[in-house]
Amino acid sequence: MTRRALCWPTERPEGGGEVLGYTRYTCSHQRRSARIGLLHSLVVLVKLFYTDVFVLPLPAGHRFPMEKYARLRARLYASGAFCDGDFETPAAATSEQLCRAHDAAYVARVSAGELSAAEIRRIGFPWSPEMVERSRRSAGATIAACREALRTGCSVNLAGGTHHAHAAHGEGFCVFNDTVVAARVLRAEGLLQRTAVIDLDVHQGNGTASICADDEAIFTFSMHGARNFPVRKARSDFDIELPDATGDAPYLQQLAVALERVFTLARPELVIYLAGADPYHDDRLGRLALSFDGLAARDEMVLAACRQRTVPVAISMAGGYARDIDDTVSIHCRTVLTARQIFPVKVAYATHEAPFSPRGRRVGEEGQRS
Ligand SMILES: [Zn+2]
Repeated sequence: MTRRALCWPTERPEGGGEVLGYTRYTCSHQRRSARIGLLHSLVVLVKLFYTDVFVLPLPAGHRFPMEKYARLRARLYASGAFCDGDFETPAAATSEQLCRAHDAAYVARVSAGELSAAEIRRIGFPWSPEMVERSRRSAGATIAACREALRTGCSVNLAGGTHHAHAAHGEGFCVFNDTVVAARVLRAEGLLQRTAVIDLDVHQGNGTASICADDEAIFTFSMHGARNFPVRKARSDFDIELPDATGDAPYLQQLAVALERVFTLARPELVIYLAGADPYHDDRLGRLALSFDGLAARDEMVLAACRQRTVPVAISMAGGYARDIDDTVSIHCRTVLTARQIFPVKVAYATHEAPFSPRGRRVGEEGQRS
């Protein structure tokens, strides 16, 4: 490992604490190589980006549980694990940023309210200026969370995970694909090259898979219910399809094996983790049978794997449609508190010295697709 230059020595930990080092992403050559420094430890908290103040107006009886976001923030605030300064509203993603993942014409049509009736139906939300603002903020929150994760090790978008959004259309309550937008924005800024998407929402991340089909720098992993939406699945770099009613033990067993493979194949400098609450047994749209504890163990497994390998992780909430909305909020809440536990005060980054190179064949081509 090579000690990098001390790039941003003016930063100090908030709230005191010992500073063990100030190594950052290399700043020479405008951080083009963007290797992750070592010996950087700061006292920090997991920062939470929220967008629930940008309300998307929905007709009465709409099945999307929009209020879960505000409830989640309130619950986290009440937990006492976070203070005021840990909650932040993100900037809206710009059109230029959105176009890293989307066709310019689609971004323009969404923004101007020029989507066709069929396109709006496919998204599942009525169009409104607030819907556009909300969608831009949500993508902005994932961008901000990724940036923050690179700085501190872990950060959270208290919404996001809109993984059904494709390059030129939205679907399944997803307008813009925040995950791909964020990964590509950071790459364009020279902050990193390789990102791994760990998508554990119960529905396949078909939009993410399709946008990234030819993107060697973003490794897409999706573990989902085989019989869930979307009916026609896209092809991720690595898909695991689970039968209905899969419970905690087999789920966690497969996940443990899969994570090893993801980190080995992707060699990520950043993980974006979609911690969907909808594998829960009482979810209206999921078909799996995970318990509260099973979902918490899932989160712990993913986050501990990132921490163990010193790979920064940005978390988004993704789906959650439990019959009792309180259950969904509890699951999301526990995800965030688990992150807070696993990334409590100090984060040391590893140095990824291997130069970037395409990751080679896809898992499915090696006959290892599960
Ligand atoms: Zn879902």
